[in-house]
Amino acid sequence: MSEQTPSEPNTPDTIRLACDAMCGGLARWLRAFGYDTFYKEGIEDRELVELALSEDRLLISSDDRLFERRLLTSGQVKSLALPRSLPLMKQVEYVARRLRLTAGETRCARCNGELRRVQREEVGHIVPARSLIWATEFYQCAGCGQAYWDGTHWRKIERWRSRLADWAKAEPANQ
Ligand SMILES: [Zn+2]
Repeated sequence: MSEQTPSEPNTPDTIRLACDAMCGGLARWLRAFGYDTFYKEGIEDRELVELALSEDRLLISSDDRLFERRLLTSGQVKSLALPRSLPLMKQVEYVARRLRLTAGETRCARCNGELRRVQREEVGHIVPARSLIWATEFYQCAGCGQAYWDGTHWRKIERWRSRLADWAKAEPANQ
């Protein structure tokens, strides 16, 4: 049973997600949009489904076998079937449109941790010298210590944020 398009747009406060072991790239983008997204390389299907149940996460997968599991067919675990072989940014678009995701505070793409704004000096030892000069905003993950700044990738995320806002405003498509 795959999730229907919601009647209201989602925010990072209204939904938590879990991506299957094949969807690492997608998970990173969902985190960049602020969604608490579980992803673990090599996780077993059973473990993933049980985690989605216990943490009330909507499971995203393109693995047909996963959708045959009782917890999914019964609807106890909410899920979204991702069409196979979509390029990464098409996966992002598909999930954003189907779940009507709007972006919130960016989370750490690497570990799903929350980011905090920091001073340039605090991350001077881990940000490349050139970025340290040009960037004006710096963030650091409270979980793993990864540094982020307003570079090229950050601006790409910003462009996608406005796309998400436009899509979420649209009426839900009939399934
Ligand atoms: Zn992190």
